[in-house]
Amino acid sequence: MPLGRLTSAPPLPAERARVADEVRGFLPGAEADALRSAAATYLRPGGVAVEIGSYCGKSAVHLGHEAERVGARLVTIDHHRGSEEQQAGWEYHDASLVGPDGRMETLPFLRETLALADLEGTVDVVAARSPHVASWWSTPLDLVFVDGGHTDEHATADYAGWAPHVRPGGALVVHDVFPDPADGGQAPYQCLYLPALADGFVEVHAEGSLRVLERPA
Ligand code: MG
Repeated sequence: MPLGRLTSAPPLPAERARVADEVRGFLPGAEADALRSAAATYLRPGGVAVEIGSYCGKSAVHLGHEAERVGARLVTIDHHRGSEEQQAGWEYHDASLVGPDGRMETLPFLRETLALADLEGTVDVVAARSPHVASWWSTPLDLVFVDGGHTDEHATADYAGWAPHVRPGGALVVHDVFPDPADGGQAPYQCLYLPALADGFVEVHAEGSLRVLERPA
């Protein structure tokens, strides 16, 4: 989709593009481009973006690159125990991400990704549950990218915890928004996207399942 009100971001440099392409994750190229353009539009020098749901760091490379370019920071938050659908026996389980204690453990993969992409100086890793961090967070945010748990409980908590921190003129970006239940789970649509619109956020861009919602200034 044309970028409309978004500023078009340049492509990732070759080495970072290779890292982002090779790391496991769920972010089609067109959505990654739109995510970088959202960052290019809303991140300001000295500003902060938050990502909920780091997994192995694919989207953090895209967001982190733009943060580095403008002189902002990215904080990426994940408990690193995998979301519901990534547990053993579920659709998105990856047995190579199970740690020695039998639990999912994606933090080492995230750290390796950020090291390979040379983004450890720009991306701050927080290994914690999103609502726990939201409970004490106070910095106004240029951009919040919610790509976390897909249950109603988690999506509702992510909205309640993080939408209030988006500064006026900033953006809430939501992944895995599927208005048609035939296309995917409904929690991001019902518990993030629709409440944001009801609260006055304005949709400025859609690409695949990615939605860019701006808080009016
Ligand atoms: Mg996602």
